[in-house]
Amino acid sequence: MSASTVEVSIVNSRQPVTVIGLGPMGQAMAGAFLDKGHRVTVWNRTPSRADALVERGAVLAGSVEEALTANELVILSLTDYEAMYAVLEPAAHALSGRVLVNLSSDTPDKTRAGARWIVEHGGVHLTGGVTVPPSGIGKPESYTFYSGPREPFETHQPTLEALTSTDFRGEDPGLAALFYQIGMVMFWTSMLSYWQAIALADAHGLTAAEILPHATETMASMPNFLSFYAARIDSGEHGGDVDRLAMGLASVEHVLHTIADSGVDTALPAVVVDLFRRGMDAGHAADSFSSLVQLMKKAG
Ligand code: NDP
Repeated sequence: MSASTVEVSIVNSRQPVTVIGLGPMGQAMAGAFLDKGHRVTVWNRTPSRADALVERGAVLAGSVEEALTANELVILSLTDYEAMYAVLEPAAHALSGRVLVNLSSDTPDKTRAGARWIVEHGGVHLTGGVTVPPSGIGKPESYTFYSGPREPFETHQPTLEALTSTDFRGEDPGLAALFYQIGMVMFWTSMLSYWQAIALADAHGLTAAEILPHATETMASMPNFLSFYAARIDSGEHGGDVDRLAMGLASVEHVLHTIADSGVDTALPAVVVDLFRRGMDAGHAADSFSSLVQLMKKAG
Protein backbone atom coordinates (compact mmCIF):
# COMPACT_ATOMS: atom_id res chain seq x y z
CA MET A 1 0.00 0.00 0.00
CA SER A 2 1.48 3.38 -1.00
CA ALA A 3 1.73 6.39 1.35
CA SER A 4 -1.00 8.20 -0.59
CA THR A 5 -3.35 5.19 -0.35
CA VAL A 6 -2.79 5.13 3.44
CA GLU A 7 -3.53 8.87 3.58
CA VAL A 8 -6.77 8.45 1.60
CA SER A 9 -7.96 5.58 3.81
CA ILE A 10 -7.21 7.60 7.00
CA VAL A 11 -9.24 10.53 5.63
CA ASN A 12 -12.13 8.20 4.72
CA SER A 13 -12.14 6.60 8.17
CA ARG A 14 -12.64 9.94 9.93
CA GLN A 15 -16.19 10.73 10.93
CA PRO A 16 -17.84 13.29 8.62
CA VAL A 17 -19.14 16.36 10.45
CA THR A 18 -21.55 19.23 9.87
CA VAL A 19 -20.76 22.66 11.32
CA ILE A 20 -23.62 25.17 11.51
CA GLY A 21 -22.60 28.74 12.37
CA LEU A 22 -19.46 30.25 10.92
CA GLY A 23 -18.54 33.16 13.16
CA PRO A 24 -14.85 33.27 14.15
CA MET A 25 -15.39 30.19 16.36
CA GLY A 26 -17.32 28.06 13.85
CA GLN A 27 -14.77 28.87 11.15
CA ALA A 28 -11.93 27.79 13.44
CA MET A 29 -13.80 24.57 14.28
CA ALA A 30 -14.61 23.66 10.67
CA GLY A 31 -10.95 24.43 9.84
CA ALA A 32 -9.71 22.13 12.63
CA PHE A 33 -11.88 19.27 11.34
CA LEU A 34 -10.54 19.81 7.81
CA ASP A 35 -6.97 19.85 9.19
CA LYS A 36 -7.56 16.45 10.80
CA GLY A 37 -8.96 15.00 7.57
CA HIS A 38 -12.71 14.99 8.32
CA ARG A 39 -15.19 15.60 5.54
CA VAL A 40 -16.98 18.79 6.59
CA THR A 41 -20.37 20.15 5.56
CA VAL A 42 -21.06 23.74 6.61
CA TRP A 43 -24.01 26.10 6.69
CA ASN A 44 -24.21 29.75 7.75
CA ARG A 45 -26.93 32.43 7.55
CA THR A 46 -24.43 34.62 5.70
CA PRO A 47 -23.08 32.10 3.14
CA SER A 48 -19.99 34.16 2.17
CA ARG A 49 -18.44 33.28 5.56
CA ALA A 50 -17.98 29.76 4.16
CA ASP A 51 -15.85 30.86 1.19
CA ALA A 52 -12.39 30.16 2.66
CA LEU A 53 -13.56 26.80 4.05
CA VAL A 54 -15.05 25.74 0.72
CA GLU A 55 -11.73 26.57 -0.93
CA ARG A 56 -10.15 24.15 1.54
CA GLY A 57 -12.62 21.37 0.66
CA ALA A 58 -15.67 21.93 2.88
CA VAL A 59 -19.10 21.43 1.28
CA LEU A 60 -21.53 24.35 1.64
CA ALA A 61 -25.04 22.96 2.21
CA GLY A 62 -27.81 24.72 0.29
CA SER A 63 -30.15 24.71 3.30
CA VAL A 64 -30.21 23.91 7.02
CA GLU A 65 -32.13 20.73 6.23
CA GLU A 66 -29.41 19.63 3.81
CA ALA A 67 -26.74 20.41 6.45
CA LEU A 68 -28.60 18.33 9.06
CA THR A 69 -29.24 15.34 6.83
CA ALA A 70 -25.64 15.29 5.53
CA ASN A 71 -24.17 13.89 8.77
CA GLU A 72 -25.18 12.33 12.08
CA LEU A 73 -22.82 14.60 14.02
CA VAL A 74 -23.75 18.29 13.86
CA ILE A 75 -21.76 21.03 15.62
CA LEU A 76 -23.61 24.27 16.39
CA SER A 77 -21.54 27.42 16.91
CA LEU A 78 -24.06 30.23 17.14
CA THR A 79 -24.24 33.41 19.21
CA ASP A 80 -26.71 31.89 21.69
CA TYR A 81 -29.65 29.48 21.99
CA GLU A 82 -32.10 32.02 20.49
CA ALA A 83 -30.04 31.79 17.31
CA MET A 84 -30.30 27.97 17.52
CA TYR A 85 -34.13 28.14 17.44
CA ALA A 86 -33.99 30.72 14.62
CA VAL A 87 -31.80 28.40 12.54
CA LEU A 88 -33.26 24.98 13.41
CA GLU A 89 -36.99 25.59 13.87
CA PRO A 90 -37.76 25.73 10.12
CA ALA A 91 -35.90 22.41 9.66
CA ALA A 92 -36.94 20.76 12.94
CA HIS A 93 -38.28 17.68 11.10
CA ALA A 94 -34.68 16.87 10.09
CA LEU A 95 -33.37 16.73 13.68
CA SER A 96 -34.45 13.13 14.24
CA GLY A 97 -31.43 10.82 14.63
CA ARG A 98 -28.91 13.70 14.68
CA VAL A 99 -26.44 14.30 17.50
CA LEU A 100 -26.36 18.05 18.04
CA VAL A 101 -23.24 19.26 19.85
CA ASN A 102 -24.16 22.78 20.84
CA LEU A 103 -21.00 24.80 21.42
CA SER A 104 -22.93 28.10 21.57
CA SER A 105 -22.80 29.67 25.01
CA ASP A 106 -25.85 30.60 27.10
CA THR A 107 -27.23 30.19 30.61
CA PRO A 108 -27.60 26.72 32.17
CA ASP A 109 -31.42 27.10 32.18
CA LYS A 110 -31.51 27.99 28.49
CA THR A 111 -29.24 25.08 27.62
CA ARG A 112 -31.53 22.68 29.53
CA ALA A 113 -34.59 24.02 27.66
CA GLY A 114 -32.68 23.81 24.36
CA ALA A 115 -31.69 20.20 25.08
CA ARG A 116 -35.34 19.29 25.83
CA TRP A 117 -36.42 20.89 22.55
CA ILE A 118 -33.88 18.87 20.55
CA VAL A 119 -34.91 15.63 22.31
CA GLU A 120 -38.61 16.38 21.63
CA HIS A 121 -37.69 16.47 17.94
CA GLY A 122 -35.95 13.10 18.07
CA GLY A 123 -32.35 14.33 18.31
CA VAL A 124 -29.61 13.97 20.90
CA HIS A 125 -28.21 17.13 22.51
CA LEU A 126 -24.75 17.55 23.99
CA THR A 127 -23.92 20.88 25.58
CA GLY A 128 -20.43 22.29 25.23
CA GLY A 129 -18.66 25.20 26.87
CA VAL A 130 -15.51 26.19 25.00
CA THR A 131 -12.93 27.75 27.30
CA VAL A 132 -10.58 29.17 24.65
CA PRO A 133 -10.78 31.77 21.86
CA PRO A 134 -10.74 30.64 18.19
CA SER A 135 -6.90 30.61 18.22
CA GLY A 136 -7.05 27.77 20.81
CA ILE A 137 -9.15 25.49 18.58
CA GLY A 138 -7.28 22.47 17.18
CA LYS A 139 -4.90 22.40 20.17
CA PRO A 140 -4.98 19.49 22.66
CA GLU A 141 -3.86 21.79 25.53
CA SER A 142 -7.21 23.63 25.16
CA TYR A 143 -10.33 22.08 26.64
CA THR A 144 -14.09 22.24 26.38
CA PHE A 145 -16.65 21.28 29.03
CA TYR A 146 -19.33 18.83 27.87
CA SER A 147 -22.50 17.54 29.48
CA GLY A 148 -25.50 15.49 28.40
CA PRO A 149 -26.09 11.78 27.77
CA ARG A 150 -22.81 9.94 28.40
CA GLU A 151 -23.06 7.26 25.72
CA PRO A 152 -23.30 9.53 22.65
CA PHE A 153 -20.64 11.78 24.20
CA GLU A 154 -18.25 8.82 24.48
CA THR A 155 -19.09 7.67 20.95
CA HIS A 156 -18.21 11.07 19.48
CA GLN A 157 -15.44 12.05 21.89
CA PRO A 158 -12.59 11.05 19.50
CA THR A 159 -14.05 13.32 16.80
CA LEU A 160 -14.71 16.18 19.25
CA GLU A 161 -11.07 15.97 20.32
CA ALA A 162 -10.12 17.37 16.91
CA LEU A 163 -11.32 20.68 18.40
CA THR A 164 -9.89 20.62 21.93
CA SER A 165 -9.48 18.14 24.76
CA THR A 166 -12.77 17.23 26.41
CA ASP A 167 -13.93 17.52 30.03
CA PHE A 168 -17.24 15.67 30.57
CA ARG A 169 -19.06 17.10 33.62
CA GLY A 170 -22.14 14.84 33.81
CA GLU A 171 -25.54 14.11 32.30
CA ASP A 172 -27.35 17.33 33.26
CA PRO A 173 -27.25 19.38 30.04
CA GLY A 174 -26.87 22.59 32.09
CA LEU A 175 -23.57 21.52 33.70
CA ALA A 176 -21.24 22.38 30.83
CA ALA A 177 -22.89 25.82 30.60
CA LEU A 178 -22.56 26.27 34.37
CA PHE A 179 -18.82 25.46 34.35
CA TYR A 180 -18.40 27.78 31.37
CA GLN A 181 -20.21 30.62 33.18
CA ILE A 182 -18.14 30.06 36.34
CA GLY A 183 -15.05 30.71 34.24
CA MET A 184 -16.62 33.70 32.52
CA VAL A 185 -17.52 35.38 35.86
CA MET A 186 -13.82 35.34 36.64
CA PHE A 187 -12.67 36.19 33.13
CA TRP A 188 -14.78 39.32 32.65
CA THR A 189 -14.17 40.80 36.11
CA SER A 190 -10.43 40.03 35.94
CA MET A 191 -10.14 41.67 32.55
CA LEU A 192 -12.11 44.69 33.78
CA SER A 193 -9.68 45.00 36.67
CA TYR A 194 -6.88 45.08 34.09
CA TRP A 195 -8.60 47.81 32.03
CA GLN A 196 -9.04 49.79 35.28
CA ALA A 197 -5.33 49.44 36.10
CA ILE A 198 -4.40 50.58 32.59
CA ALA A 199 -6.72 53.63 32.87
CA LEU A 200 -5.11 54.56 36.21
CA ALA A 201 -1.60 54.07 34.83
CA ASP A 202 -2.46 56.15 31.76
CA ALA A 203 -3.59 59.06 33.96
CA HIS A 204 0.02 59.11 35.24
CA GLY A 205 1.71 58.79 31.85
CA LEU A 206 2.38 55.04 32.08
CA THR A 207 1.60 52.75 29.15
CA ALA A 208 0.04 49.29 29.22
CA ALA A 209 3.43 47.86 28.19
CA GLU A 210 5.17 49.62 31.08
CA ILE A 211 2.87 48.12 33.71
CA LEU A 212 2.72 44.70 32.03
CA PRO A 213 5.37 42.96 34.22
CA HIS A 214 3.69 44.17 37.44
CA ALA A 215 0.20 43.33 36.09
CA THR A 216 1.37 39.86 35.05
CA GLU A 217 2.95 39.14 38.43
CA THR A 218 -0.18 40.28 40.23
CA MET A 219 -2.38 37.95 38.15
CA ALA A 220 0.15 35.10 38.48
CA SER A 221 -0.09 35.29 42.29
CA MET A 222 -3.84 34.56 42.16
CA PRO A 223 -3.76 30.70 42.10
CA ASN A 224 -2.11 30.72 45.55
CA PHE A 225 -4.96 32.85 46.92
CA LEU A 226 -7.58 30.65 45.24
CA SER A 227 -6.28 27.41 46.73
CA PHE A 228 -5.67 28.92 50.19
CA TYR A 229 -9.23 30.28 50.45
CA ALA A 230 -10.97 27.30 48.75
CA ALA A 231 -10.19 24.92 51.61
CA ARG A 232 -11.17 27.45 54.29
CA ILE A 233 -14.41 28.49 52.53
CA ASP A 234 -15.51 24.85 52.04
CA SER A 235 -15.07 24.26 55.77
CA GLY A 236 -17.00 27.45 56.60
CA GLU A 237 -13.89 29.09 58.05
CA HIS A 238 -13.77 32.89 57.71
CA GLY A 239 -11.59 33.76 60.71
CA GLY A 240 -9.64 37.03 60.69
CA ASP A 241 -6.31 35.36 61.47
CA VAL A 242 -4.79 36.15 58.06
CA ASP A 243 -6.73 39.19 56.90
CA ARG A 244 -9.60 41.25 58.29
CA LEU A 245 -12.47 42.78 56.37
CA ALA A 246 -11.92 46.13 58.17
CA MET A 247 -8.35 46.21 56.82
CA GLY A 248 -9.70 45.23 53.39
CA LEU A 249 -12.17 48.14 53.44
CA ALA A 250 -9.40 50.62 54.20
CA SER A 251 -7.40 49.16 51.29
CA VAL A 252 -10.20 49.25 48.71
CA GLU A 253 -11.01 52.83 49.80
CA HIS A 254 -7.38 53.74 49.07
CA VAL A 255 -7.85 52.25 45.61
CA LEU A 256 -11.10 54.22 45.08
CA HIS A 257 -9.51 57.49 46.25
CA THR A 258 -6.38 56.98 44.13
CA ILE A 259 -8.60 56.44 41.08
CA ALA A 260 -10.86 59.43 41.91
CA ASP A 261 -7.81 61.68 42.54
CA SER A 262 -6.44 60.62 39.14
CA GLY A 263 -9.62 61.79 37.38
CA VAL A 264 -10.55 58.40 35.90
CA ASP A 265 -13.80 56.44 36.02
CA THR A 266 -14.69 55.19 39.52
CA ALA A 267 -17.62 52.84 38.72
CA LEU A 268 -15.70 49.59 39.29
CA PRO A 269 -13.84 50.48 42.54
CA ALA A 270 -17.07 52.06 43.89
CA VAL A 271 -18.88 48.71 43.50
CA VAL A 272 -15.99 46.97 45.27
CA VAL A 273 -16.10 49.44 48.19
CA ASP A 274 -19.87 49.01 48.38
CA LEU A 275 -19.50 45.22 48.77
CA PHE A 276 -16.90 45.61 51.52
CA ARG A 277 -19.14 48.14 53.36
CA ARG A 278 -22.06 45.70 53.14
CA GLY A 279 -19.83 43.06 54.72
CA MET A 280 -18.96 45.48 57.54
CA ASP A 281 -22.68 46.30 58.04
CA ALA A 282 -23.40 42.56 58.26
CA GLY A 283 -20.98 42.33 61.20
CA HIS A 284 -17.92 40.81 59.47
CA ALA A 285 -15.38 43.56 60.37
CA ALA A 286 -13.13 41.15 62.28
CA ASP A 287 -13.60 38.24 59.84
CA SER A 288 -11.60 37.50 56.72
CA PHE A 289 -12.74 39.26 53.57
CA SER A 290 -13.67 35.78 52.31
CA SER A 291 -16.79 36.32 54.48
CA LEU A 292 -18.08 38.39 51.54
CA VAL A 293 -18.89 35.02 49.96
CA GLN A 294 -21.65 34.72 52.56
CA LEU A 295 -23.22 37.98 51.25
CA MET A 296 -22.80 36.92 47.65
CA LYS A 297 -24.62 33.62 48.26
CA LYS A 298 -27.87 35.56 48.64
CA ALA A 299 -29.66 37.51 45.91
CA GLY A 300 -28.49 41.15 46.24
P1 NDP B 1 -20.51 35.19 16.65
O1 NDP B 1 -21.61 35.81 17.42
O2 NDP B 1 -19.51 36.07 16.01
O3 NDP B 1 -21.04 34.22 15.46
C1 NDP B 1 -22.08 33.42 15.66
C2 NDP B 1 -22.74 32.81 14.48
O4 NDP B 1 -24.14 32.85 14.84
C3 NDP B 1 -22.63 33.46 13.11
O5 NDP B 1 -22.45 32.40 12.19
C4 NDP B 1 -23.99 34.13 12.91
O6 NDP B 1 -24.41 34.14 11.56
C5 NDP B 1 -24.88 33.20 13.68
N1 NDP B 1 -26.13 33.81 14.12
C6 NDP B 1 -26.36 34.66 15.15
N2 NDP B 1 -27.65 34.97 15.24
C7 NDP B 1 -28.29 34.28 14.27
C8 NDP B 1 -29.63 34.15 13.87
N3 NDP B 1 -30.61 34.81 14.49
N4 NDP B 1 -29.90 33.36 12.81
C9 NDP B 1 -28.94 32.67 12.18
N5 NDP B 1 -27.62 32.75 12.52
C10 NDP B 1 -27.32 33.53 13.55
O7 NDP B 1 -19.86 34.18 17.68
P2 NDP B 1 -18.45 33.40 17.71
O8 NDP B 1 -18.22 32.68 16.44
O9 NDP B 1 -17.38 34.30 18.23
O10 NDP B 1 -18.78 32.39 18.88
C11 NDP B 1 -19.76 31.37 18.73
C12 NDP B 1 -20.14 30.86 20.11
O11 NDP B 1 -18.96 30.43 20.80
C13 NDP B 1 -20.80 31.93 21.00
O12 NDP B 1 -21.82 31.36 21.75
C14 NDP B 1 -19.66 32.37 21.91
O13 NDP B 1 -20.12 32.83 23.18
C15 NDP B 1 -18.88 31.07 22.06
N6 NDP B 1 -17.48 31.32 22.39
C16 NDP B 1 -16.77 32.23 21.66
C17 NDP B 1 -15.47 32.53 21.99
C18 NDP B 1 -14.70 33.54 21.18
O14 NDP B 1 -13.61 33.93 21.64
N7 NDP B 1 -15.18 33.96 20.01
C19 NDP B 1 -14.80 31.87 23.13
C20 NDP B 1 -15.62 30.86 23.79
C21 NDP B 1 -16.90 30.63 23.44
P3 NDP B 1 -23.98 35.31 10.55
O15 NDP B 1 -22.58 34.99 10.12
O16 NDP B 1 -24.98 35.24 9.45
O17 NDP B 1 -24.06 36.61 11.32
